[in-house]
Amino acid sequence: MFLVEGVKLDPGHSPEDLKRAAAKKAGVPVRSVQELSILRRSIDARDRDRVRIVYNVALSAARTPGGCREYRPGAISVAELAKAYKPEPVKVAVVGAGPAGLMAALTLSAGGIKPVLIERGGSAEARTAAVAALNAAGVLDPECNVQYGMGGAGLFSDGKLNSGISREYFSAVFGELVSLGAPDDILYESHPHIGTDILRQIVVAAEKKLRDNGTEIRDNTRLDDIAVKDGKIASVKLSDGDEIAVDAVILGIGHSAFDTFRMLASRGVLMEPKPFSVGVRIEHPQSFVNESRYGKFAPLLPAAEYKFSAKTLSGRGVYTFCMCPGGKVVLSSSDKDTIVTNGMSYRARDGANANAAILVSVTPNDFDGSLFGGFTFRNRYERAAFEAGGGGYSAPLEYLGDAVGKRVTDKVSPTVLPAGRECDLYSVLPRFVMDGILDGISAFDRQMNGFAMPGAVMTGVETRSSCPVRILRNAAGESSVAGIYPVGEGAGWAGGITSSAVDGIKAALLLLEKSSR
Ligand SMILES: Cc1cc2nc3c(=O)[nH]c(=O)nc-3n(C[C@H](O)[C@H](O)[C@H](O)COP(=O)(O)OP(=O)(O)OC[C@H]3O[C@@H](n4cnc5c(N)ncnc54)[C@H](O)[C@@H]3O)c2cc1C
Repeated sequence: MFLVEGVKLDPGHSPEDLKRAAAKKAGVPVRSVQELSILRRSIDARDRDRVRIVYNVALSAARTPGGCREYRPGAISVAELAKAYKPEPVKVAVVGAGPAGLMAALTLSAGGIKPVLIERGGSAEARTAAVAALNAAGVLDPECNVQYGMGGAGLFSDGKLNSGISREYFSAVFGELVSLGAPDDILYESHPHIGTDILRQIVVAAEKKLRDNGTEIRDNTRLDDIAVKDGKIASVKLSDGDEIAVDAVILGIGHSAFDTFRMLASRGVLMEPKPFSVGVRIEHPQSFVNESRYGKFAPLLPAAEYKFSAKTLSGRGVYTFCMCPGGKVVLSSSDKDTIVTNGMSYRARDGANANAAILVSVTPNDFDGSLFGGFTFRNRYERAAFEAGGGGYSAPLEYLGDAVGKRVTDKVSPTVLPAGRECDLYSVLPRFVMDGILDGISAFDRQMNGFAMPGAVMTGVETRSSCPVRILRNAAGESSVAGIYPVGEGAGWAGGITSSAVDGIKAALLLLEKSSR
């Protein structure tokens, strides 16, 4: 097959139109095209009066035209990456079943190491029930929730897979996800997205694949302590009283488990404070975003996205994050008596509202600079949000017009469950954060006219977009305690589903390599 890049078509075109345009661009007769695979699809909406769909495709035809590069598919599963290794028998615990831990466990088991997977939360089904109880009755299970359980923090997400990191190993992550049931358009969409409904099925399939391959999965089981001998990990101690001797631990604990970070630091695992961000979720009508982005083409195109960044008047970074077209705001608390927001959407992205976080950067200078000062900082505002919400897991919210002294018309209906409660968000978040959010909204309004509509609703607080610490690791991927491989978002080296999954794969490959010597 050969590559044909930059094939441009109007929205609403047919598969036959694509075949014709690709053949024309390659300079071959359309009737000679035997096979066409889409490699990449993006929407070019820089000019909303002339929106185009842009494709890179691979064609096979009776003859390869001169000037066209040959197409070679990349690796398509973690098994292909792992098969190069022949490890000695070693005992490995993977802690945390988020994208990082799950991909690490899948890679290890494909390479011949059967790890034990330890996850403090419950199964995908148990989590769904726990989240339903929170949404319906305001009852939070601090061990099984949106942050904790099989699938990790990504389970109730939008399932956006775009990432700012280099695309190395992306095909392995996406190939693995497709083999577990993800739609195959994630292999070529420029902004791939799965949706929370399909993510749950994928996590159940991953769990089954791991068990079938001999991985022991211990959910509802927390890593409570570790034993270190001669600077090296010796065993893991679990909440059910078990102690397991191990040669290595892949540690993919996410960014919420403050108890585990404290325990690790007390056992000599070195970490450092790092910048993170704090803010709110904002909701607009999705129809407004569609119209702003795509104009008259909107009915022919999927729900539109946006992504903005700016500087606040005081010089901090302010940016939109994790935009969820046609989505909902979700309560993502894992600690009792706290409110944390995030966003999700279903595969169809057909909800009435668009939501995104608006975040302002926070550095260790904004708190006492101590190792765990960032955890204390974010917890203070998560508790303030709980109190402002009235104490029953209602989230504090404010219409933009009220925050800036404008008459509020055409109120956007907030989607957060179990409920939202109107309040002054300046009484919840630090002044520099609220000032920064409003500066950002004014700047974004210049890029998307109407973004600052008074009826847009802001729900707080969004504090868990990244980890306030980074666990140090060396070139071999190990922490200051040898044999511990910190991975993913909690380790502070990744952000989001795809980069956390890639980080988990890389650690597993390093461990396979080391065990094969
Ligand atoms: C509602 C929501 C929507 C999101 N939407 C997106 C999105 O669309 N796209 C995107 O890229 N990112 C999204 N994210 C962020 C994404 O989910 C995270 O970046 C990603 O899950 C991080 O992966 P991880 O494996 O490093 O950690 P996590 O997914 O956080 O997994 C860590 C796991 O470790 C477990 N754990 C912690 N401590 C222990 C312990 N002591 N013992 C045993 N287990 C432990 C936790 O229970 C958890 O399951 C979203 C997050 C949320 C909450």
